Amino acid sequence: DLRVRFAPSPTGYLHIGGARTALFNYLLARKQGGTFVLRIEDTDVERSTRESVDAILQAMDWLGLDYDEGPLYQSDRFDLYQQKIDQLLAEGKAYRCYCSAEELTSKREAAISEGRKPKYDGTCRDRGEQPTDRPHVVRFKAPQEGETAFVDRIKGRIAFNNEELDDLIIRRTDGTPTYNLVVVIDDAEMGINLVVRGDDHVNNTPRQIQLYRALGYPVPEFAHVPMILGSDKTRLSKRHGATSVMAYRDQGFLPEAMVNYLVRLGWSHGDQEIFSREELVETFSLDHVGRAAGVFNPEKLLWLNAHYIKHGDPARLAPLMVEQLEKLGLSTGGGPDPIAVVTALRERARTLVEMAENAAFFYRDQVLYDPADQAKFITPAQRELFMLLQDRFAACDNFTAAALKTEFSTVLEQLGLGFGKGAQPLRVAMTGSRGGPDLFLLIELLGREQVLARLGQALD
Ligand code: GLU
Repeated sequence: DLRVRFAPSPTGYLHIGGARTALFNYLLARKQGGTFVLRIEDTDVERSTRESVDAILQAMDWLGLDYDEGPLYQSDRFDLYQQKIDQLLAEGKAYRCYCSAEELTSKREAAISEGRKPKYDGTCRDRGEQPTDRPHVVRFKAPQEGETAFVDRIKGRIAFNNEELDDLIIRRTDGTPTYNLVVVIDDAEMGINLVVRGDDHVNNTPRQIQLYRALGYPVPEFAHVPMILGSDKTRLSKRHGATSVMAYRDQGFLPEAMVNYLVRLGWSHGDQEIFSREELVETFSLDHVGRAAGVFNPEKLLWLNAHYIKHGDPARLAPLMVEQLEKLGLSTGGGPDPIAVVTALRERARTLVEMAENAAFFYRDQVLYDPADQAKFITPAQRELFMLLQDRFAACDNFTAAALKTEFSTVLEQLGLGFGKGAQPLRVAMTGSRGGPDLFLLIELLGREQVLARLGQALD
């Protein structure tokens, strides 16, 4: 049975690339009825924080990437790692190294200045006695000849000359184990049989394979996902916009848009762009993950978000819009039903922030006029129109869009005005500017009391 994992280091928020890796793993597990494990790689005690763990869990939750096991924490597993280091030492597959940082640095610099590739020179590799009371690291005794190769599920066969690979440090002077060792122990002990991760880890893979072998573990399959670039083809970074998944939530994106966007960063299924969760689970496969880097395209993310907003359930979107309105300092209590407002606005908003901006006029006590529109439409020339509308709207029996439109037409006839001539000032009087949803629908939603108050404000 397939067992995959996502293994973030909690040293910051969940970024776009990490989220995509998590998503790919999740989809593979769901498709094959496998198991998706979440492992928090917090061995770097200095840089790992609880806030970061929470941020990652929150983002996974927001994206709907539920896991079957975990979160498991590496910091709970130090005993196991020590035991495995002792095992490697006892079997002569690892050794204590006493070379000081200064010695190593000067040898390194010498190698570079002589044009050699710097590599640990093996000073301690074959020493007989290995006192434990002197400061030391533990190094893995890596094979020196031959090659270490694997067939990557995305990149094909990748081979490394063992000669090029250092005797890796597996335990630091302070006694803490290092990434390459613990990742192997954990993946093996957790029964992971397919490792899907970013291709920044390709160079670690041969070292890890050597460690699997030394520890007597079966070697899993690997799939290294190409990285994500910004529009200028450099590695995606803050210069290209937010890289934190949750920043997109704050900017009014829906998780289904984010998921749909992330999956297409590197994977395709014909020319289909929109995928439901079920379709993704059904169609996703590593076979169609490309070898080329994905390019982050904010316009496409916006386009997908607009799609999901347009087709979203208004009852679900309403509280999300309300949240954004609250950020604008507006409360929806006493105003029109947010669900009805979402229904009126969802065709036109690309984000929930835009939707809240478009909805703001519904929830303000006073109309906030666009100065140019005010100068043009809220003028003495409109007084008669506004006064007649006030009378009509106050008296009409049914405060519905259709009835209001009829009342409005009657007033226009009375004044000998064309539809546009009357509709523009009325719209500005209601909303403050010329954009927005259907005029009579929005008037119905505002409700009689607000409409009369707003005509009053226009006449003031
Ligand atoms: N913790 C590693 C990282 O955040 C991932 C390790 C792995 O996937 O093997 O980059």
